[in-house]
Amino acid sequence: MDQRLRDLLAAATAPAPDPAEVAGLPLPESMRAAVVRRGDVEMFQGLAAKDKDPRASLRVEQVPLPPLGPNECLVAPMASALNFNTVWTALFEPVPTFTFLRKLGRESDLGRRHDLDHHIVGSDASGVVLRVGPGVSRWRPGDRVTVHCNDVDLEGPEGHDDSMLDTHQRIWGFETNFGGLAEISLVKANQLMPMPTHLDWEEAASLSLTLATAYRMLVSPNAGAMRQGDVVLVWGATGGLGGFAVQLVRNGGGIPVCVVSSADKAELLRSLGVERIIDRSAEGYEFWADGQPQPAEWRRFGSRIRELTGGEDPDLVFEHPGRATFGASVYVAKRGGTVVTCASTSGYTHEYDNRYLWMQLKRVVGSHFANYREAWQANRLVSLGMIHPILTRTYPLAEVAEAAYAIHCNAHTGKLGVLVNAEREGLGIVDSEKRERFAEQLSGWRQLV
Ligand code: NAP
Repeated sequence: MDQRLRDLLAAATAPAPDPAEVAGLPLPESMRAAVVRRGDVEMFQGLAAKDKDPRASLRVEQVPLPPLGPNECLVAPMASALNFNTVWTALFEPVPTFTFLRKLGRESDLGRRHDLDHHIVGSDASGVVLRVGPGVSRWRPGDRVTVHCNDVDLEGPEGHDDSMLDTHQRIWGFETNFGGLAEISLVKANQLMPMPTHLDWEEAASLSLTLATAYRMLVSPNAGAMRQGDVVLVWGATGGLGGFAVQLVRNGGGIPVCVVSSADKAELLRSLGVERIIDRSAEGYEFWADGQPQPAEWRRFGSRIRELTGGEDPDLVFEHPGRATFGASVYVAKRGGTVVTCASTSGYTHEYDNRYLWMQLKRVVGSHFANYREAWQANRLVSLGMIHPILTRTYPLAEVAEAAYAIHCNAHTGKLGVLVNAEREGLGIVDSEKRERFAEQLSGWRQLV
């Protein structure tokens, strides 16, 4: 690590950092970052998405620092985390993310900074503020923060009820450059949230993208608005989204019905106290086969859910696998129930039988990340000890592509963290007493996997 960065981090992570001292120390001239390169976008030409290998395209390189603009901050991520969007970026699927950067570059002078031949990825981070740009008054150098990934200016009227409706809304580190998998990241001031004091850097970094997405999908009136007693079908219940969805459903008095694909994952849920679990592999469901949806399988699945719930259908379906499951999700939802969808991991052209939707007055609701308030509320639940991290493994930045590969192959459980500036795991905890109170929940996922 560059000596200037080392000095900056020492000052910014000191117990009571002096903002003026941090702001006065020089920045390094370049930094390490996980990038994909524009020159590589054709490298997987002709391969199916499943055969593309993110280890070939996602590299750790020395790159220039991002220039700081108004209402922005430079943050040094002590840790970051892997999300599926970095896998999509590294596979250049469904389109190369350089397309997003080019569009952003055409919008404004500040946007032009992002349109480079390398894309610094990563949509989660925990770390320390190093610099604040003109117009930032809420945050100071030395503040410990977690970063959420909703990038908006709100210059237009569209996003003022809900910033996710802003027509220029973007996901940081996916649709913008200068993401969290770098020694220094560029964020808007309105992406920052206080880091929960009882967590270490990698736990704090592993939360926001999937937790806030699940929060909006299930809790927010903008999407699921779950009520006490609701039966909620959760696909991928030990994945990045699902692991938080299960906690949110249980906190809100809902009844989760959890789908996973192995006995180990089912056992993990059982040991956390979850009762209604479907192992889709052991029970051999194939909702999509030979290029066709399989209605007989939807019916078999619906009967199985009723067996587990005493005859009830899901009020809410937490949907993200997409083509492989969407027909089943629409079929099993209760009359008048809601399928909330935020993704299409297995394919984004869905087929379902519309008779089950209109005749039974069901709704399909699209949901995407979260506005600042929703992300803040989700972060607050973590600070209160009502939601806990689901981190299972942490990689050094140099091995970030291995983490992306594990997610691409569905070989992971929970969240995968990445150490960026932190020297080792377990650092960054401010309130050890509070941590002690949640020791069991915090050791849960790491111990059980
Ligand atoms: P993840 O950690 O890989 O978890 C997804 C889970 O889905 C897996 O653990 C797997 O569980 C299950 N799954 C995968 N393929 C499946 C299939 N064909 N049928 C049934 N279940 C399947 O990923 P994640 O972080 O939860 O993200 C999931 C998706 O949501 C990704 O496409 C991601 O890009 C998207 N996403 C969107 C937003 C947004 O704001 N719109 C935010 C976060 C994530 P089992 O194998 O155990 O069943």
